[in-house]
Amino acid sequence: MTTQMTTQTKREIVLTGDRTTGKLHLGHYVGSLKNRLQLQRQYETYIMLADVQALTTHFHRPELLAESVRQVALDYLSVGIDPERSTIFVQSMIPEIAELTVIFSMFVTVSSLRHNPTVKHEAKERGYEDLYYGFLGYPVSQAADITAFKATLVPAGEDQIPHIEQARKIVRRFNELYAPVLVEPDILVGERLDGLDGGSKMSKSLGNAITLDASPEEVSMQIRKAKTDPARIHKTDPGHPDRCTVFGYHCIFRPEGSEDIRENCQKGAIGCAACKGMVTDAIEDVMQPIRERRETYKHRPRYIDEVLMAGTAKARSAARQTMGEVREAMGIHYF
Ligand code: ATP
Ligand code: MG
Repeated sequence: MTTQMTTQTKREIVLTGDRTTGKLHLGHYVGSLKNRLQLQRQYETYIMLADVQALTTHFHRPELLAESVRQVALDYLSVGIDPERSTIFVQSMIPEIAELTVIFSMFVTVSSLRHNPTVKHEAKERGYEDLYYGFLGYPVSQAADITAFKATLVPAGEDQIPHIEQARKIVRRFNELYAPVLVEPDILVGERLDGLDGGSKMSKSLGNAITLDASPEEVSMQIRKAKTDPARIHKTDPGHPDRCTVFGYHCIFRPEGSEDIRENCQKGAIGCAACKGMVTDAIEDVMQPIRERRETYKHRPRYIDEVLMAGTAKARSAARQTMGEVREAMGIHYF
């Protein structure tokens, strides 16, 4: 089920996270971080550094994951995630999540995972033919991440919709088989940001991203190179904004001016360089405060470690509580 930001009245527990496969980018900001900033003001919020999920595709590069844990934590603090309001924790340090994954995996069929459209798409994108067991099963592990905290709401990008549906099915099945102790989550879907190369979504692994630590010069250069309508060669050629990545950025970063851009582009009245300049300014309005906060936190690695240790301890205690209830419900609580 999907939720709209304005319709929430119930008491939510929010859980979300990011794979620790590198620095976060503007796609994360638009798709999930922006919603988290708002949600953390109202609700109990857990934010997970998903290093185990990162292993599903990067098991041969554990050093990248370890480095990314602190890097992503710094990204969180830089965008304004407040550790006083949001519990930031490391997935691999919560063994109860792994336990719950094993239990769930007993009643999830392989065919339901094989038919998951996001798993299919990602497997194709990565050129996987014979799927690794952990990769195929990552939606099950994700259901454990969510249910361990009895999360009711997951702010995430649209690619996560099938996974939340899978998690809801798992919860229903568990509750019906044993006892109703788990909670079905809803997703709060954020906007999707396309990559600079046009077509696919902006992604860490595809090398088409503007990272949140990019300098003003890097942002401006990356936007200058971003893919536009290929049919438009001269400034006066009529453009097709719906085929232009940069127009998509206008809709997201300066929606109030996007209709003007559409008209002028279609009439051939504005050139790509000017259009890119305007969107760069709007992106800079988002990036500048992030950069300023990063300057403060990047010199405080001890503080980042403290945030992670405290968050992980708190998350562990919540997950332990749920795991106790799960064992009780299944009658496997022996002594
Ligand atoms: P990887 O390439 O390693 O999978 P990623 O860039 O896809 O990395 P994830 O860590 O898989 O990032 O995604 C974390 C969250 O950010 C998810 O909720 C996902 O939907 C959201 N997200 C990632 N990229 C985008 C994007 N371009 N637009 C909107 N949301 C996004
Ligand atoms: Mg991804």
